[in-house]
Amino acid sequence: MLRAVPGSNDIFPQAKEYPFREPVFRHIVRTAEEVLRNAGAQMIHTPIFEQLEVFQRGVGLTSDIVVKKEMFVLEDRGGRLLALRPEPTAAVVRAYNEHGMKVWPQPVRLFTWGPIFRGERPQKGRYRQFHQVDYEALGLADPLLDAEAIALMVRIYRTLGLRNLEVRLGSVGDPEDRARYNQYLRGLLMPHADRLSEESRARLEANPMRILDSKSEQDQAVLAELGVRPMLEFLGEEAQAFHEQVCRYLERLGVAYTVDPSLVRGLDYYVRTAWEVHHMAIGAKSALGGGGRYDGLSEMLGGPRVPGVGFGIGIERVAIALEQEGVVVPPDPSPTLYLAPLDEPAKIEALALAEQLRPRVYVEIGYTPKSPRKALEDALRKGAQYVGFLGEAERARGVITLKHLQSGEQREVEPFQLHSLFEE
Ligand code: AMP
Repeated sequence: MLRAVPGSNDIFPQAKEYPFREPVFRHIVRTAEEVLRNAGAQMIHTPIFEQLEVFQRGVGLTSDIVVKKEMFVLEDRGGRLLALRPEPTAAVVRAYNEHGMKVWPQPVRLFTWGPIFRGERPQKGRYRQFHQVDYEALGLADPLLDAEAIALMVRIYRTLGLRNLEVRLGSVGDPEDRARYNQYLRGLLMPHADRLSEESRARLEANPMRILDSKSEQDQAVLAELGVRPMLEFLGEEAQAFHEQVCRYLERLGVAYTVDPSLVRGLDYYVRTAWEVHHMAIGAKSALGGGGRYDGLSEMLGGPRVPGVGFGIGIERVAIALEQEGVVVPPDPSPTLYLAPLDEPAKIEALALAEQLRPRVYVEIGYTPKSPRKALEDALRKGAQYVGFLGEAERARGVITLKHLQSGEQREVEPFQLHSLFEE
């Protein structure tokens, strides 16, 4: 028997694990959608694959996604290289440029949701196909948009009922600031290269900043010993002023945050504002989402200069946090009426009756004629309120036998009575 690929999951109502229960999943998406539409964001769906270049140039050659070969790359028949999206932002910016959204009133606020693919080692909270809600505000380099994005993200979590959150805000500066910081890190770390992990050694040349994010204890020990100064101390004047402005706006909005002076994010395209939202009780994989500003991304994709800021929310992670906080997402409603044909000719009668009652009444019909006892069992499993039996005897009298499952009360009713019965 074939099984799903490790790190990929089926999402359906009865799934054992909370993050894969479809009503939970849908509740998260719908809540986010409501919050974002209410702020002027329009939904966009980009393809789940793009030319490999969109992501290579977008997320950057030194990001984990590219360096650790986390992208799922396919080759089409023409020999063109495609990639399943490892993040949505580069694709959204590609679409913004392709459809000339630059001439629309700016900023253009877009949101999307769907699957994201990364070839990581699967574990709890980390999958190879996971899902994100993603928001992007494009066209303006105004710190107000950064504050709005953070506020919207927090509003989504709060509306869902999450409490135990921490917003960690940092700045990765402008490209020149980062170059200076990388220079500093190289100088500091080079003499200790032999004590760093292999992965970090490889990063010393190309992007030493990423070493700060290393999961290796050995690396972290070296960093602690050297007393590395944080990125935030290397901001140029403009990036510094921008960062302070975002902080002031958040304070004015009453959005709580902590400044994380050494926050670095996994994607190379970020400039200035970067943030993560963590849940304080779900363990190591605590990031519920992250975001940042990416003013140079559009140009990396061969487009005009289009500043932007946005975030991604990990849907499965949010579901794990909801479960942890005991927030219960109601299951889907069950049928009001389960119609059970007891013989072959009753099947079409049941369907005709169901069609008459729908859509005002939630009616499901059993397809295979069965004994009343078996039909009753099925109705109970479906959680129906009523079961209606249709057999030869009922047909002869033009009625159905209706049983209320909770009280066990049973009576014969004529079909025309059903509407008013269910609307009581
Ligand atoms: P990132 O683009 O890496 O900042 O990811 C944004 C959010 O997506 C993270 O904060 C997580 O909530 C979620 N996420 C990232 N990678 C994974 C993964 N492999 N499996 C599940 N969720 C993930």
